Amino acid sequence: MDMLSTQDYITLEEQYNAHNYKPLDVVITRGEGPWVWDVEGNKYLDCLSAYSAVNQGHCHPRIVQALVEQAPRLTLTSRAFRNDQLPLLAQELCELIGYEMMLPMNSGAEAVETALKAARKWGYTVKGVADDQAEIIACAGNFHGRTITIVSFSPEEQYRDGFGPFTPGFKLIPYGDMGAVERAITPNTVGFLVEPIQGEGGVVVPPEGYVRRVREICTEHNILMIADEIQTGLGRTGTLLACEHEGVRPDVVTLGKALSGGLYPVSAVLGSQEVLGVFQPGDHGSTFGGNPLACAVAREALRVIVEEELCERSVELGEYLLDRLREIRSPHVATCRGKGLFVGVVLKPEAGGARRFCEALQERGVLAKDTHETVIRLAPPLVITQEELDWALEQIREVLQI
Ligand SMILES: *Cc1c(COP(=O)(O)O)cnc(C)c1O
Repeated sequence: MDMLSTQDYITLEEQYNAHNYKPLDVVITRGEGPWVWDVEGNKYLDCLSAYSAVNQGHCHPRIVQALVEQAPRLTLTSRAFRNDQLPLLAQELCELIGYEMMLPMNSGAEAVETALKAARKWGYTVKGVADDQAEIIACAGNFHGRTITIVSFSPEEQYRDGFGPFTPGFKLIPYGDMGAVERAITPNTVGFLVEPIQGEGGVVVPPEGYVRRVREICTEHNILMIADEIQTGLGRTGTLLACEHEGVRPDVVTLGKALSGGLYPVSAVLGSQEVLGVFQPGDHGSTFGGNPLACAVAREALRVIVEEELCERSVELGEYLLDRLREIRSPHVATCRGKGLFVGVVLKPEAGGARRFCEALQERGVLAKDTHETVIRLAPPLVITQEELDWALEQIREVLQI
């Protein structure tokens, strides 16, 4: 048994691990449902859920069981051979979300890369765009991951600084602006990549009707609507896809994060036969993508979302959370926004940033993460109870007075 203190762990991490994050100084050793415990035995309510990867709660017993049953049986074949879990995940995921095909990867960024490759190849082989001319439109304020191609169209200066040269073929337009989408389209446009609610951008909910209008514009101009639902999907906003709030079915969807309930990196792209059918053997791949352990875990993670009615919980508790937050009188809060249990408390510019509030919440046993400097994101596991939410609200109410 290691007997290291919080400070010991921090010192080791700072010495031996690259400093590509600036985490809160809490060293977590155990999790259960919406709760986590640090190495000193302190208990915290997790209001980040690993950026919505643990929608089902930490170490969900059913998903753990699926992992424990599959792990000693078979973990990896590579796609050089077939395995008996991938076909079942493919069928269950496609039937659940309503798509013809899926392509499995591991991280969210890989799913986005896959969607971009699919859109480009669809553009050349189906739409008839001239070689190497394909354009993809994305939005200001986006977050789609950290590969060089993805940061090529990141609006965040820091994500790009020092990492050029970048991948061409992307165009940024303001988020939530329907006119801007139409103006940006050229005959070479193959896709519009959009988050139905921007997560890392600060839980930005677009104007009512935006997602529906985007769908219409994409259809009119024969371009693929690619919805990045890696954070918003799988129950977080109260539906399996956030696009469903406006009755919209995107051509291509990326999923990740909660697809495994946080037990394993699993991501996927969903689409039609026309789009994902562009991939021929050898065009694209991943050693671990679609491995049987990932698929067994994802299958159970999806069943938990459905059978524990996590979408319904998200709707009810999210509405409750937003109502209670809006009742809080605080000199620091500009507005509260969100959908389902995906909520941003937007602070006034003079509030001194969200980080100090997150640190104060940590002292009181609530873990939340500042996003975009001035937004406190509240996205607890969807298995949280109303009593637990009430307790978190008490802490938030007090912290917002400091
Ligand atoms: C987290 C996230 C990604 C990237 O996922 P990784 O697993 O970190 O690569 C992409 N898009 C959105 C919307 C995300 O929230």
